[in-house]
Amino acid sequence: MQNKLILENLTVEELKDFFENNGEKSFRALQYFRAIHKNRILNPIQMTNFSNNLRQKLYHYNDIINCSIIKRIDSKLDNTKKYLIELSDGNIVETVFMEYKTHTSICLSTQIGCKMGCKFCASTKKSFIRNIEPYEMCAQIYLVENDLNLKINNIVLMGIGEPLDNYDNVVRFIDLITNKEGQDMSIRNITLSTCGLVDKIIKLADDDIGINITISLHNPFDDERSKLMPIGNKYSIEKILDACDYYFNKTKRRIGFEYTVIEDVNDSKKYMDKLVNLLRNRNCLLNLITLNPIEEFNQKSPDRYKMTEFMNYMNKNNVNTTIRRKQGVDIDGACGQLRINNMIKRGVK
Ligand code: SF4
Repeated sequence: MQNKLILENLTVEELKDFFENNGEKSFRALQYFRAIHKNRILNPIQMTNFSNNLRQKLYHYNDIINCSIIKRIDSKLDNTKKYLIELSDGNIVETVFMEYKTHTSICLSTQIGCKMGCKFCASTKKSFIRNIEPYEMCAQIYLVENDLNLKINNIVLMGIGEPLDNYDNVVRFIDLITNKEGQDMSIRNITLSTCGLVDKIIKLADDDIGINITISLHNPFDDERSKLMPIGNKYSIEKILDACDYYFNKTKRRIGFEYTVIEDVNDSKKYMDKLVNLLRNRNCLLNLITLNPIEEFNQKSPDRYKMTEFMNYMNKNNVNTTIRRKQGVDIDGACGQLRINNMIKRGVK
């Protein structure tokens, strides 16, 4: 996107070069990194341990200050909060904060729009615009933490976009957010959700990143899955499962599978049996999700009885299965919906 050097994308070592090249002591690099990534001081003008001159210079190379919350919607049913965050170029991303008994969690967007074209997903309906920069992923966390005055314990890369289609930026973001001088987030508390980009799953294993991954499966039959998720035309389920086995063998991280249950589409015994057949001998967790209908995808959600029946059948057949608790359903629950509704209100078609 920008050609300008953005300091919030840099590691401490890279920042040292910047400070030295600008006639400053290299220890300033660590001070700057900590100010942004640990103390969440996003405006260099407020970094009072730097001279006025240096603050002005840092301001010029700082873009995170131009990221801001433009809207927050609080669920009345639970503690979910949805944010619309405007980035420095005016693009808008959606970020979701969730609170559980034991921890807090944030669902981040990794792209503006998405190329993958999954039929049930609102994110793809306004097409792909650009990848999100590492600092813009950090900004989603820091703005929410500053807004709520708390620390987020868990990150899921499950918002707008296919994270593995923005591989380099996502890996750099993970590097920044797990840095001991910054947020020091545990790699074990980061989960990436993918529609199944096989080559990138293998790369992630080879690069030894060590995060949790979860696969959006949604249908166990290749022909039907491809109609829902066009990526299925490139990578078969067998290839995806092979890549998952490779990932598991390298990282020992249990793989998650997400399955959105759609009434009369993928909820009959035929689908359950095929899922059992695919997943039974794997160290994995199947997460059943009740469809959150969007206008453009005219399908029905199954009732609670059907979901429980599905889960019990899978568990009985040795596939470890849970039902994902619905969060924030009263506030445009499905991924990408809030952003799209806002774009429509602003006249963006
Ligand atoms: S489900 Fe994920 S990969 Fe598919 S279109 Fe939506 S954001 Fe993209």
